Amino acid sequence: MTGLQDDCFKIGDDLLPFEDGLKILKARAHRVVGSEIVPLIQALGRVLAEDIQSSLNVPPHDNSAVDGYAVRFSDLSQTTETRLPVTARIAAGHPLGRCTEPGEAAQIFTGAPVPDGMDTIFMQEDVALDGDAVLLPPGIRPSANRRLKGEDVKQGDVILRAGQVLRAQEIGLAASVGLGQLKVCKRLRAAVFSTGDEIADPSDGRANVGAVFDVNRYSIAALLRGLGCEVTDLGILSDKVGEIRSALHDAAPGHDLILTSGGVSLGEEDHITRVVESLGSIDFWRLAIKPGRPMALGKIVDTAFVGLPGNPVAAMVTFMRIARPLVLILAGRMDVDPHVFKVPAGFAMHKKSGRREWLRASLQADAGGTLCAMLYPHRGSGMLTSMVASHGLVELPEDVAVVEEGQLVDFLPYAEMTQ
Ligand code: AMP
Ligand code: MG
Repeated sequence: MTGLQDDCFKIGDDLLPFEDGLKILKARAHRVVGSEIVPLIQALGRVLAEDIQSSLNVPPHDNSAVDGYAVRFSDLSQTTETRLPVTARIAAGHPLGRCTEPGEAAQIFTGAPVPDGMDTIFMQEDVALDGDAVLLPPGIRPSANRRLKGEDVKQGDVILRAGQVLRAQEIGLAASVGLGQLKVCKRLRAAVFSTGDEIADPSDGRANVGAVFDVNRYSIAALLRGLGCEVTDLGILSDKVGEIRSALHDAAPGHDLILTSGGVSLGEEDHITRVVESLGSIDFWRLAIKPGRPMALGKIVDTAFVGLPGNPVAAMVTFMRIARPLVLILAGRMDVDPHVFKVPAGFAMHKKSGRREWLRASLQADAGGTLCAMLYPHRGSGMLTSMVASHGLVELPEDVAVVEEGQLVDFLPYAEMTQ
């Protein structure tokens, strides 16, 4: 894989609309990870590295969808009961091994191959037995209860695409065409730092006066793991240039991506930007969004760099909407946009136009049973409890200034942005 361009995240000084930022990421970032072979049983959550073409048909042969009796449709009377001798018994995994003749019926079980010549299957419940014969009522349609060879997958079909994430159903589909291992993208190696003299580690149990516990390193590491990354926890950096510089310098070689939180505004104590600039390149992204103060995107040698805002809610939201697509692209994923659902607003509000806003919201049924987006009552961007209590984000685009109750708004479930 080739590295990223040195200035790949450079943009101008203007306030940048969110969609433009996303377009820049999509245009300039690309997969940086190599590939490896993994056993199918361990493929959950991995990203497929190549298209998969099926070398066979699924099902491999016509087979019965029910337990019952296989016959030739042409042997049946359309008006009265038909009586046919039962000349064979075909269980799943035990093909008959001969061609059938007109005038025969075969007892057949679910999944068993339909013998050559027969085409229609009666359910056991619909027939009667009479000695060695079966009595078949009129009215069945031709080919009833027969699953056709290749009806799920045809030989030569491309069943899965490079860049698809492997969920249970993709893994099952790969198994159905006889693949016991898959070529997947290597996991993106991500390193996470928090920054700030006031940040204390929760595993120390107590914080000094003026300190706050580190939230972001834990929430961001969890988000990265949810996206399939291999995460290195690199602890907390104090607001000292020398310490930040040597930590970032040392972390870059072994990682594809470094994420920090805090310290990316223009405050006197915010050194991250200057340090990354001196080690590689960086740009401030002043996105027209709320929540989310400036973010920093850049590169240290061959390692992508993302500086998220320090505020815990802003860090999570900007991760979900901006860092996540970048992470997925670097990791080889094809679809990086979350599904957006239109739901009626269960609230009314005024909004500043010209910027995109994300509001924490829950889906609740109104009196008629229609799901509505209800806002979490406390909007403060430091309120992490609001992320726990809500189901996702209402996304209000730049041009919206007023939301009326009942108006359709875009809703993004957290589940769409955490995997
Ligand atoms: P900063 O961007 O460094 O100015 O931080 C903005 C706000 O987020 C400040 O109130 C910080 O204390 C807080 N903050 C920064 N990093 C973290 C963190 N890792 N966990 C919790 N709060 C943080
Ligand atoms: Mg700080």
